Amino acid sequence: MSEAPHLTFDLDTPGVSTGHLVVPKGADFEALSLPVFSCNRGDGASLLITGGNHGNELQGPIVARRLVEWLPEAQRCGRIIIVPEINPLAVQAWTRNTPIDGKNLNRVFPGRSDGSVSERIADAISRLLLPMVDTVLDLHSFGPTWDCAPSIITHPIADVDLMTKTVRISEAFKLPVTLLWEHNDTAGMFDTWVHGQGKTFICTEFGGGTVFCGGAVGAEALAIYEAGVRNGLIALGLIEGKAEYPTFRQHKSGQTLETNPSDELKSPAPGIFEPRCSVVDEVKQGDLIGILHPMDSLSADSIDIRAPTASIVFAIRSAGYVQGNQEVAILARPLVH
Ligand SMILES: [Zn+2]
Repeated sequence: MSEAPHLTFDLDTPGVSTGHLVVPKGADFEALSLPVFSCNRGDGASLLITGGNHGNELQGPIVARRLVEWLPEAQRCGRIIIVPEINPLAVQAWTRNTPIDGKNLNRVFPGRSDGSVSERIADAISRLLLPMVDTVLDLHSFGPTWDCAPSIITHPIADVDLMTKTVRISEAFKLPVTLLWEHNDTAGMFDTWVHGQGKTFICTEFGGGTVFCGGAVGAEALAIYEAGVRNGLIALGLIEGKAEYPTFRQHKSGQTLETNPSDELKSPAPGIFEPRCSVVDEVKQGDLIGILHPMDSLSADSIDIRAPTASIVFAIRSAGYVQGNQEVAILARPLVH
């Protein structure tokens, strides 16, 4: 009989406290001990902030750790719990999925106490942290091979009131894009599980590609990310301050968009993808999105990839080799409320 997941400290302790969430050992791996920050200032909103769900998206853990530095001074009321890296194994390996079991942590919620290590992490979070909060902020960044607009993403939610509330709070982060993303692969997502409890789930996405800094996690991108999170905390009433749009490509503004599976552009053949537009560009039908260079011969013609309709570019793959029928761009349109 293995031990149960547990916290090494009491989250109800007033004020700032820190400790660990212990994920028990299982058949495939030893116990994990995830650092947890808690700031409990009584009545008000209660928020869980998580980073490192996908291990190759490091903006989240960095911003989460910055929050740990300034929240003790700034937080006025309510409860904030922060786990900067919920999947430390994937972060250490710089992989999207957990290297031990090959699973995507963001597809195994609510997890299993007797499952593989990803499932045990999800189980510990679902059991011990989720019941303490009414809102979850999961910090993602689209992975290192894409540029995407600094954004809050939400999936369609059947509960109309929760959907409306989620879009409203997402827009209050004042990031350049708030995106309603309809896609089919939502079973086992952290989002889906949190929504099922009637709670609010907010997911930030932030490109890790070439817009700012050639594939690395750059200071300018991190500043926008942190400003968005600060705006969100103001909107939730947890800290005081004036919410402002961060400057992104010379603009201080935001737009609410929607995208569905038919807005994903795929590569027509294997080859090297060359992007020819940038995130938040407005494109007309037929405008060039990118070029695919087949590698079979020097005389093979390159293939234009064009916008099927008037759109706004939400995300585009960084230059690199792609297989045939692989996503190279995600287009979007203004959300019709
Ligand atoms: Zn992610």
